[in-house]
Amino acid sequence: MKYDYLIVGAGLFGAVFAHEMKKAGRNCYCIDRRTHIGGNIYTEEWKGIQVHKYGAHIFHTSDRTIWDYVNQFAEFNHYINSPIAVYRDELYNLPFNMNTFSKMWGIRTPEEARAIIEKQRAEAAGEVRCAEAAGEMREPEPGESLSAGDQSGLAAEPANLEEQALSLVGRDVYEKLVKGYTEKQWGRSCKELPAFIIKRLPVRFTYDNNYFTDRYQGIPIGGYMQIIEKLLADVPVRLGISYRDFLKQNEESDRPDTFDRVLYTGMIDEYFDYCLGELQYRSLRFEEEYMEACDNYQGNAVVNYTDREIPYTRIIEHKHFEFGVGKGTVITREYPSVWEKGQEPYYPVNDERNMALYERYRELAAAEKNVIFGGRLGQYRYYDMDKVIAEALKLVENEQQHYR
Ligand SMILES: Cc1cc2nc3c(=O)[nH]c(=O)nc-3n(C[C@H](O)[C@H](O)[C@H](O)COP(=O)(O)OP(=O)(O)OC[C@H]3O[C@@H](n4cnc5c(N)ncnc54)[C@H](O)[C@@H]3O)c2cc1C
Repeated sequence: MKYDYLIVGAGLFGAVFAHEMKKAGRNCYCIDRRTHIGGNIYTEEWKGIQVHKYGAHIFHTSDRTIWDYVNQFAEFNHYINSPIAVYRDELYNLPFNMNTFSKMWGIRTPEEARAIIEKQRAEAAGEVRCAEAAGEMREPEPGESLSAGDQSGLAAEPANLEEQALSLVGRDVYEKLVKGYTEKQWGRSCKELPAFIIKRLPVRFTYDNNYFTDRYQGIPIGGYMQIIEKLLADVPVRLGISYRDFLKQNEESDRPDTFDRVLYTGMIDEYFDYCLGELQYRSLRFEEEYMEACDNYQGNAVVNYTDREIPYTRIIEHKHFEFGVGKGTVITREYPSVWEKGQEPYYPVNDERNMALYERYRELAAAEKNVIFGGRLGQYRYYDMDKVIAEALKLVENEQQHYR
């Protein structure tokens, strides 16, 4: 059979693209190497609870068009993400806000909180200067400009993530809520991590535990799969096969299918057989547990463990995403891990080395005739779901030009 598009990857990007192109009259065929559709937003029902199999997924956006778009496919509840942080035997609200500061320092007003943070930021800047004076830090390069912090008299250019975080939130918040969590996430000490990883650490001087600042937020009632199922309803999908094996089998078949164009949402370096080297990722290991005798394990969907000694970064209790009150509960512990070939790549490591390598792969991709690279792996960047939908819709627009 003749198809207009072969779509590699039945994740959110591939599914939105397939749906819209099908609606526009194009013939699409979709494959995925996993045995299910949905990619990383895949949810599975366990004893009446929707389990987010590849980590907690909370939909949030400020874009009304995208919010209306997803609401065509599912009804969303009013879930608001308000994580709790556990540091040893202390519990704090996230993101950093007046509830966090009040618990940490026994204060009540924004003015008191600001004064403590400013004092700790100034102390941190002073320590950096002392270290510089003692010759422990690098000298500025000739012509290197002073940072905004320097000019205000607060901080020298942060040389690593630790200095960056200290200059943003001061020592208490950094040591209790940032340091251990970040070190587990990246598998390295904050002193060895580049400052750019944390550009900002949002600090709120209101009693507001809503993690996201987007206008629209929620969880699809009954899980994410109804969205993907509806998106792919009229598109033939073959699961459990990789792009390479699919091409081979198709070529060897008596009546091979033909495809005018390919949308590839897998890893860009894998597509090119890693000919320029491997891009780096961070991976995750999920440990799931069904607790029959427990109806409410932690009282919140997301609890972060911010001390280094506990090997996981988060425990997710899935029933709270949908305000579940039934018997039993399912929890997932999330362990960050080193990515090796063959494992699931979750987070791109967008440092200088990887971005330079990605640029070289992008040049190869641009020269590849009739193949489009999309989604978080094809574009080697972290995308939230709303951005993935927006990008897929933009691509649909571009592709329509092709037929005009
Ligand atoms: C732990 C975690 C938590 C997240 N939480 C949130 C959140 O709370 N809110 C939010 O908005 N976003 C969140 N995201 C981001 C969200 O998961 C992504 O935006 C979205 O899943 C990306 O969709 P995609 O189609 O680009 O990629 P994917 O979902 O990865 O889909 C790509 C698909 O392609 C398939 N594939 C790859 N290579 C091949 C190949 N060679 N052959 C065949 N098939 C192939 C894969 O099996 C996969 O199914 C989170 C991401 C992670 C990792």
